[in-house]
Amino acid sequence: MAGEPQADCLFCKIVAGEVPATVVRESQTTVAFRDINPQAPTHVLVIPKAHYPDAASLAAAEPQLAVDLLLEAGEVAAEENIVADDAGPGTGYRVVFNTGSGAGQTVFHAHAHVLGGRGFNWPPG
Ligand code: C5P
Repeated sequence: MAGEPQADCLFCKIVAGEVPATVVRESQTTVAFRDINPQAPTHVLVIPKAHYPDAASLAAAEPQLAVDLLLEAGEVAAEENIVADDAGPGTGYRVVFNTGSGAGQTVFHAHAHVLGGRGFNWPPG
């Protein structure tokens, strides 16, 4: 059934506590934890507890859960002090959903990368 945990999914195992992770936030529907191979001073992954292979299938099946994920990404950025505005020194941040192996997706459980604490180029590599 859509959204059910998958036995062979690494991020489902993190949700279940079977694989360790450095969790920075948890809500009823999401978990945020530090990436084990950080690409920026702040690199946090925000995942839905329910299993969907990518962001588009998540949004199609459970739109509110996709919104939850984006709200949590914003909360992570605020906690990490990477939100750039007139009031603070934050660097700004990037939220990335790699979708498909050609775009760099390696774990097929939807996740938002929240990256900040350094400058970023555009177009992305
Ligand atoms: O977008 P992509 O699917 O490549 O992202 C998966 C991310 O999961 C990678 O950045 C990788 O470093 C991270 N990861 C992790 N903890 C694990 C395995 C992978 O943070 N145990």
